[in-house]
Amino acid sequence: MPMRARVLPKHTPSLHPGDYLPCVAASLPGRRAQPGLREVWRELLAERELLGMPSGRHALWHFLETVDLPRGSEVLVSAYNFYVVVRLIEQCGLRPVFVDTDPRTLCMDPADLRRKLTPSSALVLVTHMFGIPAAIEAIAEVCAHEGLLLFEDCAHAVGTTVGERHVGGFGDGALFSFGPFKSVTAFGGGMLALSPSLARRARREPRSGRSVAARARVPVNLLIAAGTTPALYAWTLRPLTRVATALAERGSPLLRDLAAPAKDNADYRFDPDAYPPFAASMPATLAPQLGRLHTAVARRRATIAHVSAAIGADPRARFLDGDAHGLANGSYFGMYVDDPEAFTASMIERGVEVNPHEFYDCSRLPQFAEFAAECPRAAYVSDHLVRLPSYASLDGESTARILDAAMSALERSAPVAPPPVAAQSRLAPVPPPSAAARSSAPLTTAS
Ligand SMILES: *Cc1c(COP(=O)(O)O)cnc(C)c1O
Repeated sequence: MPMRARVLPKHTPSLHPGDYLPCVAASLPGRRAQPGLREVWRELLAERELLGMPSGRHALWHFLETVDLPRGSEVLVSAYNFYVVVRLIEQCGLRPVFVDTDPRTLCMDPADLRRKLTPSSALVLVTHMFGIPAAIEAIAEVCAHEGLLLFEDCAHAVGTTVGERHVGGFGDGALFSFGPFKSVTAFGGGMLALSPSLARRARREPRSGRSVAARARVPVNLLIAAGTTPALYAWTLRPLTRVATALAERGSPLLRDLAAPAKDNADYRFDPDAYPPFAASMPATLAPQLGRLHTAVARRRATIAHVSAAIGADPRARFLDGDAHGLANGSYFGMYVDDPEAFTASMIERGVEVNPHEFYDCSRLPQFAEFAAECPRAAYVSDHLVRLPSYASLDGESTARILDAAMSALERSAPVAPPPVAAQSRLAPVPPPSAAARSSAPLTTAS
């Protein structure tokens, strides 16, 4: 098959040429004073103490070290999740407890959270998955009532708001990630946002590494981020990913882990020394991207709204309700189909990359068998969700291409089943029909 000149990658941070400058300039002599994290996040997270981290996962690690929970304490997490987060909890001697996922938002279901609480529960870890706000106010209320700590995973959620507030400001701590595949990137690094009271207890500097491999991360990430630019992708990152996959199959996964990180790696263990320290140039790299945040969010949301509206009520596709608890930032575009693999293959034939499995239902992964749980709605998400492109740099023509490709992929699809009903609705007593309904409606009609 001839290689297409223009493949639409599934993701790009949509960088402008100038966005690379602070990172490049930092390696030259005679550098100027840099803004700090506090300065560049001032408008979004003014009330938090912000600590630069080598990665997003370091932020969770550092938080868990700071709160120092008793061994075996339970950490409640949404089952549809990034396996690294679950692995970290386990590696810290804590016990992940899987809470079912709301298929409308891909986030933790607060009703199931209440059911999963035990006297050993200590921390609730909420992910604003795909940049969709979780039911964070309801969950914060549960935490306050039960005396539990609350941590927010905001790796996808820069620009996601609830009411007037940016996410990451609701809990005791929050992680942000600036890796090459996130919607704002510093070619690596991350951030821990802490409540002022916890910040007084936290050490300033997390552990990090200074080996050649650790130091190579930022320049390699810069090339990866540049390689996701649609005009370059077909000639750079795409072939590189193929080489990296081939190398990994021959036993050298290093490049693959950077260029195309696995979504379920049972051998993974967090190693704080595998990442270089948070660099002084990272806030300056974030600054122009944060300056464009409102435009980027509006553009991404417009793409999602346009494609969803055009596909409409087709029984072969189902859409999320990203704004159920606030305003989603549009960084990931999720859609349910009957067969994600077949749908993806059909999209790729038309030069549009789609990810058939962004994440998995961790409650069913063999690597977490010890913590296995029944989370039927997370299983549904895992089995039917695909991720389509929605990045800010998509123009009208590219959006039309995504829509055309999706329409023809759906033509070959079967209708997608609706998500399973939440346990609570299944158990809830059926209200007696009103007198009027009794006299007119047949008994078998469901409302
Ligand atoms: C990327 C990501 C993280 C971790 O960020 P890193 O910077 O890669 O360590 C955590 N949670 C979610 C949901 C992510 O996508």
